Amino acid sequence: MNHCLICQEVVTSSFGWSAFLGLQKHAPVCGDCEHAFQTITGELCRICGREWRMVADENRYGDLCSDCFRWEGDPATAGLLKKNRSVYHYNENMKDILSRYKFRGDAALSQVFQEAFTKKFKEACPKEKPIVVPIPLSPERIYERGFNQSLLLAELLPGKPEELLSKTSSEKQSKKARWERLDRENTFFVPDSELVKGKNILLIDDIYTTGTTVRMAAKVLKNAGAYDISSYTLVRS
Ligand SMILES: [Zn+2]
Ligand SMILES: [Zn+2]
Repeated sequence: MNHCLICQEVVTSSFGWSAFLGLQKHAPVCGDCEHAFQTITGELCRICGREWRMVADENRYGDLCSDCFRWEGDPATAGLLKKNRSVYHYNENMKDILSRYKFRGDAALSQVFQEAFTKKFKEACPKEKPIVVPIPLSPERIYERGFNQSLLLAELLPGKPEELLSKTSSEKQSKKARWERLDRENTFFVPDSELVKGKNILLIDDIYTTGTTVRMAAKVLKNAGAYDISSYTLVRS
């Protein structure tokens, strides 16, 4: 008997949406749970990949949303991140799924996303083949959780992810301005800059919220000589 990997309900019919969409090859997901996923489609902000239909006109600056417009307007952060693309919207259901995935160690859930995450990967990639680099967790966090959710996601993609970034300690995020946090609270580092010099990097994370995390990572990669940095996340809030 198969249980839905998300809600644990018994998946009885083989004629459900899962079978129809080809998801059952990887993991059983019941129809209700599948319907809860909302894929990001249509016209997007050029940089962060936010869907335009979710953005009010006054928050739009040409092909950029107000968030990206601010990041790009500051010399300290302009051009750090070439683009971000994400697969799903962050709705209530996705919130539950992500917290189970991240905090309760339900690592098997990554299989649920495999097909969609692999498919959209091509859109997220720059023309030149990038090195796929997961956003790291600090050693304490890894110990606590037992796995890095970003590495699990990166492992779903073609090719082998390279852990070229590390993180020292997991400090609490403060209320400082985001550009200030990018320098003072940046706990990412590149252990071997020779490996990133001149390279295109695709950062993998579970969620893109304000874009601060991926830009912190991008900053240390740029300082180490990386060429272009983009990011690809499962969810876009
Ligand atoms: Zn379910
Ligand atoms: Zn944007």
